[in-house]
Amino acid sequence: MVDRVKELEALLQKEQKRIKNLLESLEAEGLEPQGPDHSDHPAEWASGLSQREYNEGEKVSLRHILAEIAHAMDKIQRHPEKVFKCEKCGKDIEDARVKAKPWARYCLTCRSRYEKSFLKRK
Ligand SMILES: [Zn+2]
Repeated sequence: MVDRVKELEALLQKEQKRIKNLLESLEAEGLEPQGPDHSDHPAEWASGLSQREYNEGEKVSLRHILAEIAHAMDKIQRHPEKVFKCEKCGKDIEDARVKAKPWARYCLTCRSRYEKSFLKRK
């Protein structure tokens, strides 16, 4: 049990590092100077804009994952016994799910229920 938590913590730290690096490289891209020659090529300019929009979207989701990882690491510190339990129903989170998404808070059942109710509200 303790080993499993330690393993997860190492995994989370690794992911946190990887995502921070990704985020930093995205931010560095956004800081690249846009040369004046871009104005001569409206098509290129336009594609540059959509790339930037894409990067913004990526940054938002990466920051979201970082927040989820921080939450999971906080949980490891405070409630290591609850790390692999769903925050909604309290059942064990599926192994495959933990492997795919080590910071998952909910089991698959609760997650899909949540997604369904979210879709209905739209
Ligand atoms: Zn659940």
